[in-house]
This record gives sequence, C-alpha cells and structure tokens, in this order.
Amino acid sequence: MKFASFTYEGDHCFGIVMNGDSILNLTKSEGWAGPKSFFEFVKEGSLEEVRSFQKQFFEGSLKEVVITNIEDVDFRWLAPIPRPSKNIFCVGKNYLDHAKEMGAEGAPTDPVIFSKVPTTVTAHLSPVLLHESVTNEVDYEGELAVIIGKEAKGVTRDKAMDYVFGFTILNDVTARDLQSKHQQFLLAKGLDTFAPMGPYVVDRDSFLPLESKEVVTKVNGEERQRGSFDLMIFSIPEIIATISAGITLEPGDIIATGTPKGVGKGFTPPKLLKNGDVVEIEIDGIGKLRNTFVSEK
Ligand code: MG
Repeated sequence: MKFASFTYEGDHCFGIVMNGDSILNLTKSEGWAGPKSFFEFVKEGSLEEVRSFQKQFFEGSLKEVVITNIEDVDFRWLAPIPRPSKNIFCVGKNYLDHAKEMGAEGAPTDPVIFSKVPTTVTAHLSPVLLHESVTNEVDYEGELAVIIGKEAKGVTRDKAMDYVFGFTILNDVTARDLQSKHQQFLLAKGLDTFAPMGPYVVDRDSFLPLESKEVVTKVNGEERQRGSFDLMIFSIPEIIATISAGITLEPGDIIATGTPKGVGKGFTPPKLLKNGDVVEIEIDGIGKLRNTFVSEK
C-alpha cells in the first residue's frame, strides 16, 4: 500500500494511492474514522483498518468517499511527515564506494550516525534552497529512508524489521564546504529545505525484500548514482539495533540509510548543484522524488 501526504483545498490530508494519479483521500472521506494525518496514522492507526476501508470502497458500499487527483489545481504535495518530532537519523559512509569517493580508506567499523534537524524537511516538487550566503558546494545524496512504526528500545537485529512501518525516498542534501569547515555535520546537513522527502511511503511488507532493489539519482536527466541496497555496509536491522540501544525510536521517526557512490563531490572536477538543477531520485516500488535547486532571492 502506498501512502501520500498533501494539501487539498488548503487542508492537510493523507490518503492511499489508487492508481497513478488518484488518491483515496482518507482525511476528507466521511466514512473514514481513523487518524486524519499520515503522522498520526503511523502512531495510532493500523493497516488493517485501511485495508478494510479500501475493500468497502471497491465493493461500492461507501458513500461519501473523496478521490483527489494529483493533477487537480488544489492539490499540493507535502512530505509524508512534514515536521518530524525529532531529528532525522542518517547513516554516513554506508556504501564502500561512496566512503572511498569521499576520501576514506576503507569501511567504517561501526555505523556513522548523524542527524538532520526537522526544519530540513520539504516536499516532492518543492524548491531546495542553495543558501549561497553560507555555502558554495551544495550536493545531493539519494537514499532509502525508513519510517519507524512503533516504539523501539534495545531492539535486536532479528526483531528490528518488526518496528518498521515502511519506506520512502530522501535526498540527504549536503553543503560539502560546511561539512569539512565545521567538522560536525549539523550545519552542512541541516540547512532549511535540505531533506526533500517522498513522494510516497510504501508499507514494509509491500516493499520488502530489499535484495536486488536499487536507488538511482539523476541530475538534469544525467544518471549520477545507481546503487543496490545489497551493498549497504550496515543493514537496516543493524542500524535500528545500534540507534535503539540507547535512544528510544518512536513512531514516525525517520532513518536515512546512506548514499551509494556518485555524489557530485566524488567527480573530478566536482559536479555540484547550481541554480535551476533538477534532481530526481527513483526507487523501484516507491516512486520518484523530484526537486529543483534554486538561488535564494
Ligand atoms: Mg547521506
């Protein structure tokens, strides 16, 4: 099942994708008694209640159902969770070829975990700011992101996937000059709009297994990254076990799982982003996240 968050006629809504263009708008459908936003749904809802609602819809037994078309003039994309309740967890150097293109000699022995502040989050098709007043080296990182579905404390690897609600796409946008200048990643990764996310969240069982799936990043149509999830150094269960050992993961928390090789900084000369560049990140089974990078006015 594929979920989307959006505004329709100015109201924050969520729903499930019926086919390419139409979304069963749960928030606006009278027969839907469940949570009104995707974030609340992850915290309090259940897939069973959505399946049951969808079944009644297909049987024609629901009267007041709202279908929202993404081409509608009153439709605007939101990030699946527009304002997470804590920072987004991120994994650095989780693909050996990417670690090497960034100058590392080998794989890290333990996961490198950092975070992006909640105000980095922005939506599919929303502009990403180049922040020229503080950086000249804005770069993309196409990544698979995990949405946590239930509270996780001290979770073991073999149970970790039970705590995953689903998966989305995230661009871990990075200011490379700030990354080296300030040593810690918070500023480099944390500028406003530096975490475009979406357009969809696919529930765990609809998306798994990860094997043979990949992320592809294009800039202005030119392929820059193509990385199989088989090449992650630290698996998703290992990442969840590592974080939850001492930090409680809560429903709606987000973990970006790292980027494969092919970031702009890894090319000689570097291929960093400039005004008007369009970055598209595609993961089979989820969709395509597209954002244009723009100068500050
Ligand atoms: Mg990253």
